[in-house]
Amino acid sequence: MIPRIHPLPAFKDNYIWTLISSDGVSAGVVDPGDARPVIEFLTENRLRLSDILITHHHMDHTGGLGELIEKYQPRVFGPGGIKGIDHILEEGDHVEVFEVGFRVIEVPGHTLDHIAFVHDGGSHDTPILFCGDTLFAAGCGRLFEGTPPQMLGSLRKLTALPPATAVHCAHEYTLANLAFATAAEPRNVKLRSRIKIEQGKRNIGRPTLPSNIELELATNPFLRCDLPELAASAMRRLGRPAKDEIEVFAAIRKWKDNF
Ligand SMILES: [Zn+2]
Repeated sequence: MIPRIHPLPAFKDNYIWTLISSDGVSAGVVDPGDARPVIEFLTENRLRLSDILITHHHMDHTGGLGELIEKYQPRVFGPGGIKGIDHILEEGDHVEVFEVGFRVIEVPGHTLDHIAFVHDGGSHDTPILFCGDTLFAAGCGRLFEGTPPQMLGSLRKLTALPPATAVHCAHEYTLANLAFATAAEPRNVKLRSRIKIEQGKRNIGRPTLPSNIELELATNPFLRCDLPELAASAMRRLGRPAKDEIEVFAAIRKWKDNF
């Protein structure tokens, strides 16, 4: 049974993804950077916080940990080196939240400790991905700690997931990312229709997320660095042809940093 998944907006553009048990009694949260919206939601819906999943150490993903642990004593899962995590995870580990199994994959690049949670789905349910700041809708995280080959390798792990996998990332960056995607790949007609759809969601205050792997492969420039149009964009930035896909990715990522 898949728990209901609900996005709690936090700060300017973060989402704290909330999983709710099928009996409507318990909740789990992913990356609670702020305790306040979580406590408000739990109180309003009479839910008990049983589990916290953390993808990486940044404060906008972990800042609410202390208060939530003190108030609810949940199980806390995540990478090593973060205060409050009592179940340290690495590649290949499994976590179960409300009878839904997640496997852990390591996705360094944005930070070195970054992990993602994958529910593989089955005949009755959709695969689910919680990927923090690694893969965004139409974008990817900045390389604060890792290298371009690391990040490209991490993104490839995510794009190897089934096309229907629901991508739950941690920020509402989609429209800005799509504006950049259009600059990087102006002839991709699928970008135009996606912008219309995502703008429509934002106009009525809805999140653009979750996305899915199929849509990201079609419209996310960081997943398309093997294509000639992205290579041409990278060449314009570099002033010479890129040596390989990693160099294309690095040039496109650097361009986005200042876009
Ligand atoms: Zn981050």
